[in-house]
Amino acid sequence: MFSPFQTEPYVDFSAPEPKAKMQAALEAVSAQLGRTYFPVIGGERVETGDISISYNPAQKSQVIGYIHHATPELAERTVQVAQEAFKTWARVPVEVRARYLVKAAALLRRRIYEFSAWLVLESSKSWLEAYADTAEAIDFLEFYAREAVRLGQPHPTTPFPGEENEVLYIPIGVGVSISPWNFPLAIMAGMAVSAVVVGNTLIMKPAEQTPVIAAKFMELLEEASLPPGVINLLPGNGETVGELLTGHSDVQFVSFTGSRDVGLHIYQRIATPQPKQRWLKRAILEMGGKDAIVVDADADLDAAAEGVVQAAFGFQGQKCSACSRLIAHAAIYDTLLEKVVERAKSLTLGDPFDGKNFMGAVIDEDAYNKISRYIEIGKTEGRIVLDGSQADASEGWFLAPTIVADVAPNARIAQEEIFGPVLAVIRAESFDHALEIANDTDYGLTGAVFSQSRVHLERARNEFMVGNLYLNRKCTGALVDVQPFGGFRMSGTDSKAGGRDYLHHFVLAKSVSERW
Ligand code: NAD
Repeated sequence: MFSPFQTEPYVDFSAPEPKAKMQAALEAVSAQLGRTYFPVIGGERVETGDISISYNPAQKSQVIGYIHHATPELAERTVQVAQEAFKTWARVPVEVRARYLVKAAALLRRRIYEFSAWLVLESSKSWLEAYADTAEAIDFLEFYAREAVRLGQPHPTTPFPGEENEVLYIPIGVGVSISPWNFPLAIMAGMAVSAVVVGNTLIMKPAEQTPVIAAKFMELLEEASLPPGVINLLPGNGETVGELLTGHSDVQFVSFTGSRDVGLHIYQRIATPQPKQRWLKRAILEMGGKDAIVVDADADLDAAAEGVVQAAFGFQGQKCSACSRLIAHAAIYDTLLEKVVERAKSLTLGDPFDGKNFMGAVIDEDAYNKISRYIEIGKTEGRIVLDGSQADASEGWFLAPTIVADVAPNARIAQEEIFGPVLAVIRAESFDHALEIANDTDYGLTGAVFSQSRVHLERARNEFMVGNLYLNRKCTGALVDVQPFGGFRMSGTDSKAGGRDYLHHFVLAKSVSERW
């Protein structure tokens, strides 16, 4: 019924038209700053009086918006509203549910520059990063719409004489999505619409740092006429509202993307049934990474250096897929390090309102302090060849690229997720040694290998234990249904967002057999 899925193309911001459109969108969005946003429950905006302020990370005092945070009582009411909405939404034909998503995608495509401008201002993404985030949100809407229709088709079973047998995929019930700030539109949107397109109803709890983008997405869903109560927006603190929702006896699944500590906490929390709880809650948990790029002795060093710099410092290193470890073969270590440092030095840093800046600010003061602490630790664990803490942070939370060379594989900066523009460079004596180092972390999200050796590339295919492996390219930038995304080990449940198995997380498989 829909045309085949295709990923949304990017634009080239050096061309006059996209540049002019983005500048106009930034001006238009700037004129809308400082408005007030509310939780949206069953289509109703609820004033709670518990107001939080969202600031521009690159202009510390610039208010993006005021947000009424949900209270525990409101969270409780929202679960009831979602339960009520489930009774009708679950019965809406899947093709109809899918059309809401395709309509929302069309609306978002028309406003792609506007949404990207909100991302620039609220999350300090560069123009291209912001555009990619919005494009990915469109991709999730389009892709999951098609996938839901596919899942709704008859599924083959082995014929059995005298019986009619079928397997149906039916919705589970009320779920909660808890999303991070680093892909405040794409990840939040993908987690929400995947759950509802198969017939569930949802409470969407966005990250505290990026509530305005969440509110804008909610407006878009309303414009697409998604029925009230199907997706409810509940901005608020993770420790209060999030905690209440994950522990609620009437919530049947939790879809989470965020840090390892919070993910593990949720995993443990939902394992204990609450009084009156009649199901095992499902958890989809996508967590952190300590991603490595391995560069072999015979690699194309310019391509490798470019890939490392893009993956380590794009969006200030605040991607779960970001390269935070460069593992270089001893034979090319010094030459590669020089090339990486040279490129990193040339990156432009500043308010991403100005399209020439490749890097913006880190998300907030907490992030700034945490990353700065790791830079200090790095000074004791290796040789600082680029010190990003010297950037001017008077206006915004700016940290420039930091590169620490000669780091031991087991050093803290080589093992712990920093989530900022800090790269640990590790020397490997051989390709075997490099793979061993690459695998020796708790995480297993993304990884890359630059090599010309077929034997080594094949070994990496088999032995590099990551959910998303890239050969001779950078380890960031997964596209919907091109590289389904999710990690191994402490990186999560490997749900493969944007992949053809993903919607199975949000359905019950029901086998029905009638004997004639
Ligand atoms: P975070 O864990 O601090 O917060 C994520 C969400 O959890 C937020 O909405 C927060 O309010 C909520 N939360 C916090 N405490 C909670 C609690 N007790 N109960 C319920 N909800 C709670 O993560 P973050 O700082 O927003 O995001 C960065 C992290 O996300 C990094 O670790 C990054 O690697 C990870 N991430 C992973 C993926 C992936 O696909 N694997 C993608 C993006 C980000």
